[in-house]
Amino acid sequence: MLTVKELRKTYDTKGRRVEAIGDVSFSVADGEFVCVVGPSGCGKTTLLRCIAGLLPPTSGEVHVDGRPVTGPPDGLAVVFQEYGRSLFPWLRVFDNVELPLRAAGMPKAERIELVTEALDSVSLGEAHGAYPWQLSGGMQQRVAIARAIAYQPRVLLMDEPFAAVDAQTRADLEDLIRSVWRRLGVTLVFVTHDIDESVYLGQRVIMLSSPPTSVVEDLAVDLPAERDQLATRSEPRFTELRGRVYAQIQKAKQES
Ligand code: ADP
Ligand code: MG
Repeated sequence: MLTVKELRKTYDTKGRRVEAIGDVSFSVADGEFVCVVGPSGCGKTTLLRCIAGLLPPTSGEVHVDGRPVTGPPDGLAVVFQEYGRSLFPWLRVFDNVELPLRAAGMPKAERIELVTEALDSVSLGEAHGAYPWQLSGGMQQRVAIARAIAYQPRVLLMDEPFAAVDAQTRADLEDLIRSVWRRLGVTLVFVTHDIDESVYLGQRVIMLSSPPTSVVEDLAVDLPAERDQLATRSEPRFTELRGRVYAQIQKAKQES
């Protein structure tokens, strides 16, 4: 569904050159849930922007559903870290979620159905008439997730979506994302700098080094599909996997 091949990205601004991504390759199968983890500044956001067609790579290729990415691909949605800035403050929750569907020219009856369903699935059915600034951070991020779900993407990219919410909300949102993924069968690439989160959420963890960034290891998460914040995190296998990810990232930091 998604392939990244020998991707390299160098930023050139005012005589300063930053080699954000050195050489990154990986692929993600249809319906797979993959987490990408790496230290702050290693190019995770840059990588997602290249995949989403928002930023041209310096070299290398990205394919989504067999087609080369040259601009934002059809059927791909992104949830950014800064939900505060990704929602329109002058639009009510319902209208924020509806906006991409309007832009796609979808008929009204269908829009209403999809928006209502998406808001219900993130338990925000009651909040449809509120403005984003009337909601807590966790609720705003749920609106952003609902907007992505309503669009019915085949590929969903998430860039540290829970970095700015409190721990309890974060745990709830993690479980919400897992249930959305299992229900919709969407291909999901979830970027985080949180090692525990990367192991808890997905089926694979792709570990990135510090810049110039490459893939350090691509690890299968062989935990049962039924996950639970308390039970899964206290399983010996969970501890082993997070230890593995932690060690690899430490090693990659020292080598760079
Ligand atoms: P991460 O998301 O992993 O924290 P980023 O992709 O945001 O990493 O950034 C990777 C590197 O590229 C950093 O050194 C950052 O300063 C640099 N960078 C990111 N965006 C730009 C930009 N628009 N112009 C110049 N440098 C950038
Ligand atoms: Mg980032």
